[in-house]
Amino acid sequence: MSEAALLEEARADLEHAAGKKPAAGVPFSGMTTIGCGGPAGLVIEADSTAGLAAILETATAHRIPWLVTGLGSNLLVADAGWPGLVIRLTGSLKCCRIRGNLLDAGGGASLPKAASVAAAAGLSGLEPLAGIPGTAGGAVAMNAGAFGASIGDLVSEVEICRAGKSFMSPPGSLDFGYRSAALPPDSVVSRVILSLSRSSREAVSARMRDFRSRREASQPVGKKTCGSVFKNPPGARSAGMLLDQAGCKGMSRGAAQVSESHANFIVNNGGAAAADVMELINNCRRRVYDRFGISLELEIRLLGGLRPEPLP
Ligand SMILES: Cc1cc2nc3c(=O)[nH]c(=O)nc-3n(C[C@H](O)[C@H](O)[C@H](O)COP(=O)(O)OP(=O)(O)OC[C@H]3O[C@@H](n4cnc5c(N)ncnc54)[C@H](O)[C@@H]3O)c2cc1C
Repeated sequence: MSEAALLEEARADLEHAAGKKPAAGVPFSGMTTIGCGGPAGLVIEADSTAGLAAILETATAHRIPWLVTGLGSNLLVADAGWPGLVIRLTGSLKCCRIRGNLLDAGGGASLPKAASVAAAAGLSGLEPLAGIPGTAGGAVAMNAGAFGASIGDLVSEVEICRAGKSFMSPPGSLDFGYRSAALPPDSVVSRVILSLSRSSREAVSARMRDFRSRREASQPVGKKTCGSVFKNPPGARSAGMLLDQAGCKGMSRGAAQVSESHANFIVNNGGAAAADVMELINNCRRRVYDRFGISLELEIRLLGGLRPEPLP
């Protein structure tokens, strides 16, 4: 049976599980920060852990391919879209609360918002990550990090949701690595508890401003991008440095362009197709390989059959 037929068959059960209607054909261009990508099969919102567990149970029972997305800040989706079920976290899964020195954030809470809530409470730790435009759940899934800090270093506990159930997991079980976390299969991060340290509101806000201005000075902030395209390879030179030295800055294809301010970012200057971005990705990888013999690994997640071209 095709994905479309499976989704159609599951639609009423999904609506019952979520307590609201799923939407068909929503374009990924509006659900990703780079602004590319065709339609999703169905998009459904989960507004509580129980609702999310019920949606996952329904999707599993109907054998529907599903994917949870945050703010789509590390995703590139094909122009033809992706025919499965996209789950978005909302309602209580977007809230942030302070409990003593702990920040309790829903998996769908934005990291900049979580950082502001921590700053208002005079809690320090999240400042280097405040400018990462993703969600708390997505940040845990990717072990997002900046300026030498990673979210995994702050995690006290994570609520994991799977088909029909949820449970708390200690950070050790997630085996955080460089831009990676070992989540159990078919699971969603529905809540993140971060352990922060006491400081003053003024000191935390000042540190946040400092990290923001450092980011603004070195990255195409405010432009449509999907963040760093490639992971930094082992060794002294970052992916951005290698791409710059291989002459990638400013390369363009259609409305997609390698940023002039940071070679590891690809900017959508307006109406870029995912195929244009993919072609730039392939050209950049090839240039770095030809010049340095290094195969850059993608940091962004690809969806809808997109794949980097193999290198020789
Ligand atoms: C301008 C810009 C700057 C950036 N700077 C940084 C940076 O400094 N450091 C950095 O690490 N990243 C950076 N990023 C990339 C990105 O913001 C992070 O990787 C972020 O953690 C992704 O979060 P998201 O919620 O948007 O996830 P998405 O992009 O929506 O999803 C990414 C992956 O995470 C999975 N996922 C999302 N939510 C969940 C969940 N709740 N549970 C389980 N899996 C989930 C998705 O299925 C997907 O596989 C930047 C991006 C942009 C656009």
